[in-house]
Amino acid sequence: MTTRLPLRVEPLPGEWWRSYIVRVADIYGVQPLSVLERVHGIARVDRRHFRWSGIALSEAAARDAGRVVNLEPVEIQSMQLSAFHGSALNFACRSFDHFNPANASALSRLPLTAVGPLVKATSDRLCPGCVEGAPGYRASSWRLQVHVVCTQHRTPLVVHADSAEDSAIDDAVCDSQDEVLRRLGPTEENAAFFNELHDQLNSAMGLRRRNPERQVHRPPEQVLEEFRRSVAKTLAHGYPDYQGFGDWPVPRAIRHLRPAHMLACPNPPLHSFPHLLPTYLFVPGLSDLLHRAQIRQARAIAAVGARMCATGNPLQVARELLPTRRRRATAQLFLTHLIELEREGRAEEFWRHCAAAAAELLHDDVDYRHREQVCHDEDAYLAATAAEPSAYVRTVRTWLVDQWACTYTSSNVRPSVRDGTIEHFDRDHGPGMRAALDRHLLWVAA
Ligand SMILES: [Zn+2]
Repeated sequence: MTTRLPLRVEPLPGEWWRSYIVRVADIYGVQPLSVLERVHGIARVDRRHFRWSGIALSEAAARDAGRVVNLEPVEIQSMQLSAFHGSALNFACRSFDHFNPANASALSRLPLTAVGPLVKATSDRLCPGCVEGAPGYRASSWRLQVHVVCTQHRTPLVVHADSAEDSAIDDAVCDSQDEVLRRLGPTEENAAFFNELHDQLNSAMGLRRRNPERQVHRPPEQVLEEFRRSVAKTLAHGYPDYQGFGDWPVPRAIRHLRPAHMLACPNPPLHSFPHLLPTYLFVPGLSDLLHRAQIRQARAIAAVGARMCATGNPLQVARELLPTRRRRATAQLFLTHLIELEREGRAEEFWRHCAAAAAELLHDDVDYRHREQVCHDEDAYLAATAAEPSAYVRTVRTWLVDQWACTYTSSNVRPSVRDGTIEHFDRDHGPGMRAALDRHLLWVAA
């Protein structure tokens, strides 16, 4: 049975739980371990339990600890590293209860590497300005590898308080650090940001996440410059060449590639987006930008680009719009073509056209999934040919799939002597057949 401590010691802003224990012990003039013993109800406490504290607690453990130190469970939880779950860290692989210090067995190793890049407690860093007046103080965010600078005191975090140099931190580094700290709240967007930032830092430093310690021992100017560049690259959505994705393995690059523009449209309907961008949206700008690709591949790239702009999804997610067998190749083509465009200074133009196409598709609100289903029906074919009797009948079938349902056809879409291109055929006969098909679908639905 644990008993309440007589005083309530106020946590300092952003304070880490382990630092709080140390300060409470200091105030009572006892060893931190004996505070830990009471707080977590551990029978035979040793250093190992201290190492396990401040990571994560179950609700019940936080309630028990709160009762002893006169804090609300939520105050206790905000001092654990798990407060960064859903942004800079990801505890999804472990239950919080796993990290309860009382559960630390003699043989267990702290399985922390999987939750994200942390600085080990052995190379604990601090800001000399922040600990002045409260020597035991440590902020929990200092444990994050991506916290490198105290922006309040404009100084790099250092391993020893007296090793601080008078290195002036420039505004760009401070701004980058502020941007990172602003994103510590758990949201899907912030989690994605940290995922990308960690990958950028890893590739900038040639490190793997499993060996984060080396970062601490690099020259500070180099670390700060790499940090600033990595934040800038992470935020440069839609510019994969600048972001360095060209050198990354394709699956990793497409996981991170996001659109430069995004429409303010939460949960846009999937059915409004065809597999291939309709010709009337493709021709005005995107056909010129993507002239190096075959036309159907280019329309698929453009369709995926529009979907990315509508949702803000990375390429890896947006490509799921396509039939399974088309996803891999299209995503790869998307990446290589966009990198080419970026090198020519035309990436911005590409994204602007994609965003405009997305807005049009949402406005048109055509159910392309439905068109895919009915485009091979005999009734649809008859409705189209009846409306345009002079259209070459075999091309009508291709037109229904390629131009109306905007998906992949099994027939070879190529210029024919009789009709010219399918696009030309569409200009001649498309309007009549579209109107007839609209009427036909209404009639079927009625
Ligand atoms: Zn500071």
